[in-house]
Amino acid sequence: MSIYSKGHKGGKGKQDFHHKKSLGQNFLTDDYLIESLVDLSGVGENDCVLEIGPGMGIMTKALCRRCKKVVSVEIDDALIPILKVSMGKFSNFTLVHGDVMKLNLPEVTKDLGAFHVVANIPYYLTADLMNMLMASDMPILSINVMVQKEAAERLTARPGGKEYSVLSLKSQYYGQPQIVLDVPRVLFTPPPQVDSAFVTMPLRAKDERAFAGDREELFLKVVTAGFAMRRKTLLNNLMNTFHMERTAVEGWMTKSGIEANRRGETLTLKEYITLTQNFPA
Ligand code: SAM
Repeated sequence: MSIYSKGHKGGKGKQDFHHKKSLGQNFLTDDYLIESLVDLSGVGENDCVLEIGPGMGIMTKALCRRCKKVVSVEIDDALIPILKVSMGKFSNFTLVHGDVMKLNLPEVTKDLGAFHVVANIPYYLTADLMNMLMASDMPILSINVMVQKEAAERLTARPGGKEYSVLSLKSQYYGQPQIVLDVPRVLFTPPPQVDSAFVTMPLRAKDERAFAGDREELFLKVVTAGFAMRRKTLLNNLMNTFHMERTAVEGWMTKSGIEANRRGETLTLKEYITLTQNFPA
């Protein structure tokens, strides 16, 4: 299908473009929505932005008009010449051709200084990309992304619900995720099978997180253990993950103020932090 016939503004090469489902190519076409997404991201003239997956460049242009510098990473060979034409007039724009998961991102973004991520990301990459960005050493100030609605609910979920997961705890440990806009599928071309939501997530600076260094790794291991087997109690999951005796784990949990019959998905972020702090070294 040509997106030209779907209402995109013209441009050399666009007419021949065919969306690749395998690359999550569901493009935005509504200028008002794009402006709202940039508004919600809170980026302005002093800010630098990394965009993942510019597509035809509709959001890229809005970002370039408003921000200091924009670096966009696009994997699709067919979009590179189109972007070169459509973005040619922006001197604050850098296009990087490659796979965001394989590129040396610190190198790619080194001229930005501290930066924000703003993107309508390919949904197949959501968990891997979020995990990679949140835990990276790059100076990322915030992550503002369009994701599948269910993924948005997982990122922002609180204890007890079925969406609450390792990803929820990680995202709330590294930042403050919030669903700021629900976006129906009809606003994409071609429309995906799912609805979407835009999530903003200011990230905590390293020294504002509960842990740094080795303990952070331990915290992630404790959280992962908590969700290892959802039908088992936290006690059993911790015994299995850390190869510890029942009495040792019971002592650890008691010291942390957590009853032995709790399940991992009922613990708050604060309780996971306390549990990590009390790990019997
Ligand atoms: N930003 C555009 C928009 O909103 O219309 C396009 C968004 S589309 C959902 C996702 C974009 O990510 C596509 O352009 C796709 O080619 C690109 N993409 C997919 N996988 C990628 C990867 N591994 N690295 C970089 N870009 C990727």
